[in-house]
Amino acid sequence: MEQKILLTPGPLNTSRTVKEAMLYDLGTRDREYQDMVETLREKLLDLAHVSKEEYSLVFLQGSGTYGVESVLEGSVGKQEKVLILSNGAYGERMEQICKAHGIPYQIQSFSKLKKLPVNELEPYIAQEDITYVAFIHCETTAGVLNDIEEIMELIHRHKKISIVDAMSSFGSMDLNLKSLGIDFLITSSNKCLHGVPGVALIYGKKEAFERCEGKSDTLALNLYEQWKDMEQSHGAFRFTSPTHVLLALNQAVKELEEIGGITARHEHYILLQKMIRDAMEKLGFDAPVSKEDQAPVITTYFIPDWMDFSHFYEWMKERGILLYSGKLPGYQAFRIGNIGDLTVEDMERVRTEICNYVKEYKR
Ligand SMILES: *Cc1c(COP(=O)(O)O)cnc(C)c1O
Repeated sequence: MEQKILLTPGPLNTSRTVKEAMLYDLGTRDREYQDMVETLREKLLDLAHVSKEEYSLVFLQGSGTYGVESVLEGSVGKQEKVLILSNGAYGERMEQICKAHGIPYQIQSFSKLKKLPVNELEPYIAQEDITYVAFIHCETTAGVLNDIEEIMELIHRHKKISIVDAMSSFGSMDLNLKSLGIDFLITSSNKCLHGVPGVALIYGKKEAFERCEGKSDTLALNLYEQWKDMEQSHGAFRFTSPTHVLLALNQAVKELEEIGGITARHEHYILLQKMIRDAMEKLGFDAPVSKEDQAPVITTYFIPDWMDFSHFYEWMKERGILLYSGKLPGYQAFRIGNIGDLTVEDMERVRTEICNYVKEYKR
């Protein structure tokens, strides 16, 4: 097997040192490991600009969706209701979760190619029977970045509780959970934090977790129990801890600090994205998302008439580069991600190969 350049939205390329951090087998009930988990939780709170007096960071075994499911299922009571503001597949996934658990919900769907229209949202948020409002910060479907500050302001104005899926944005841009006043935020180890897949990260206000008592009907996904246990047992997990995943995440966070933190990573992503976007523009590819609405993590391109995407995909794959198909119903599109442990040289190579392909096959 050879190393690939992953232009996907997760899992992503990880550094050699992140992978090497997993070479140790640690006991999950051992002090050394548990101290590392606790220190990592504190570091992750720092990255979100919150203190452990007000907020808590809960690890949940599984991919990001496990975290979203745990929060929706464990927080919204059967007598309450969650409003989902959706502009993509991940908003729709929240609806699937609500359906699966019989969680009372209302979904408002908007264009997948644009930001959520902030000036149209208030009447929905203001509805009296709504307790929670859930939305996606960066909708990875088309690569759209929603206006988190403005949406949070509306949520506060109407005293609702917020659930933010920041899976593909946390780590790609600085988010101050305290000043934004976010109640729950979900991200995962394997997106912009550059860890390996296997654990979801759930940030929450202490009072938001406290409200969850007795609400969950699940055992392993039970948000309240996972939180309470993690707060009380100093780095132990209720069920088998993903020790290697946490070792990798610990190393990944260290490396994030070393490069200068989230702001530096943001700048780097912007640079990589621009390299590809400029080249694609020159080659005549159209991007359906405007630059104002574009998230710094992944870009959608229309598949031009002359191109057979599966041929392009296989051709790039032979050269060690994995592209990502589109997920927009009604559009022929594909996506190019720019997150993960990628260098400018990697992106130069991607750019060169795309140019070569276009030269060879464009009719
Ligand atoms: C990747 C992603 C998820 C989680 O997907 P998993 O496959 O469960 O890791 C959720 N929401 C968004 C916006 C994502 O980009």
